Amino acid sequence: MAETLAEAVSRRRTFAIIAHPDAGKTTLTEKLLLFGGAIQLAGEVKAKKDRIQTRSDWMKIERERGISVVTSVMTFEYDGNVFNILDTPGHEDFADDTYRTLTAVDAAVMVIDAAKGIEPRTLKLFEVCRLRDIPIITFVNKMDRESRDPFEILDEVEEKLALDTAPVTWPVGRSKTFCGSYHLADRTFRGSDTQVQPTRMDDAAEVAKHLPENERNAFIEEMELAREACRPFDREAFLEGHLTPVFFGSALRNFGVRDLINALGAFAPPPRDQVADTRKVHAAEDRMTAFVFKIQANMDPNHRDRIAFARVCSGMLERGMKVRLARTGKTIGLSAPQFFFASQRQLADTAYAGDVVGIPNHGTLRIGDTLTEGEALVFEGVPNFAPEILRRVRLEDAMKAKKLKEALQQMAEEGVVQLFSPEDGSPAIVGVVGALQLDVLKERLSAEYGLPVSFEMSRFSVCRWISSDSAAELDKFVTQRRGDIARDLDGDPVFLAQDAFSLRYEAERYPAIKMVAIKEYH
Ligand code: GDP
Repeated sequence: MAETLAEAVSRRRTFAIIAHPDAGKTTLTEKLLLFGGAIQLAGEVKAKKDRIQTRSDWMKIERERGISVVTSVMTFEYDGNVFNILDTPGHEDFADDTYRTLTAVDAAVMVIDAAKGIEPRTLKLFEVCRLRDIPIITFVNKMDRESRDPFEILDEVEEKLALDTAPVTWPVGRSKTFCGSYHLADRTFRGSDTQVQPTRMDDAAEVAKHLPENERNAFIEEMELAREACRPFDREAFLEGHLTPVFFGSALRNFGVRDLINALGAFAPPPRDQVADTRKVHAAEDRMTAFVFKIQANMDPNHRDRIAFARVCSGMLERGMKVRLARTGKTIGLSAPQFFFASQRQLADTAYAGDVVGIPNHGTLRIGDTLTEGEALVFEGVPNFAPEILRRVRLEDAMKAKKLKEALQQMAEEGVVQLFSPEDGSPAIVGVVGALQLDVLKERLSAEYGLPVSFEMSRFSVCRWISSDSAAELDKFVTQRRGDIARDLDGDPVFLAQDAFSLRYEAERYPAIKMVAIKEYH
């Protein structure tokens, strides 16, 4: 019998992996794909990456960041579920890209290095997930090495993240003697992930036989303590973002990955409802809706295309369908939506709520765009962050000013930089969250547009989007402060300040003007 829309949607699990660099995100991604059956050999993800030719340094930057960007989404089917892993750049300078990607997931896997615990990036990314109530599954990685005591790790998660923990599995052994995980509720033991079915073991003493004799008693005691002292898993609390199930393992040595895939299948939520300006959209609704959370250029050096990554929010997306682009009200055809697998992309004939498709285009689509089958609604929540660095772009060849303007506009549409056009007609200012983004901009302007540029300090260092309940007040402010006002890509006004001090000062002087550091795309 053909699958119903509701059934197809309920099988989707769309998630991201959040981690501090080096915790093992890349390795875990590879192993999820390996044990999920998407790739034959671990290492293929990296190998593929190495084959891709690089044309310029920015590609090198991306390459150094591992599989990120080259494969922004990876899909595999396992045990009846369809898993979509959305990859996020590891480097902090690309944080805005990561935050936007997190708006397109329904769950996250938080990878912690068992020796290091919660690190700064983990904390930051966790906070972003919490803002959106994204449920989190914790994977404590590198148990094959010297690590902290599992109870200590659980305590740290509870304290630093104010998040309840429920260990679902318990590590058997430590560092050299680490040999598998024991499922506390099911009372099963699984050695390496090459063992597909775990073995039932009711008695901790039986499990302890996998350990050297001198570690057995301690293990049995620890198991008893874990059973008595730890919280049991509570799915409601997990879905509400109050509790995280915890798994212990080693991505490199193939431990705990299968438990994690099973947990994603069993615990992680199917596609969530999405909030739009006019109403809430349910994933299993008949009519297709989607939003763009990322634009990627140069996915393939042979095709100078741009891919808009769209998360399907409801219904079914079909190849060839016509959709309405909310920002312009125009209709566009989806002639070649694509799916991404570990090593290739493929035309997508159908995609369901929860899936992510790549839509090739030449600049029609922007980050934050909503696509529908005709209904006039706009999804909320794809954020735009006030840049931390503002620069003027200096062109070596002044004759090419017009070309530069076009190029910057395109880079801004892709989300590489933000572009601000001052009201007084002075040259545009670019803004970025991290300095590496400027390197990317410079390399791309040179390699793709033949525009060698350098950057100059601007007299501004802070910018805020401004609005007011009173249109008259806003107009007055914009007119009075014309030299400090610019428009972003959407034409929305921003206030540019010299520094944080003068920003505060002005904010106090003009209480009717709201100044915000995060703008949600509309
Ligand atoms: P990422 O920066 O989070 O993507 O981390 P990687 O997956 O690139 O891993 C960082 C380093 O840790 C690499 O050298 C991996 O081989 C190593 N690594 C990853 N997982 C494990 C593990 O479970 N055990 C050990 N011993 N090393 C690991």
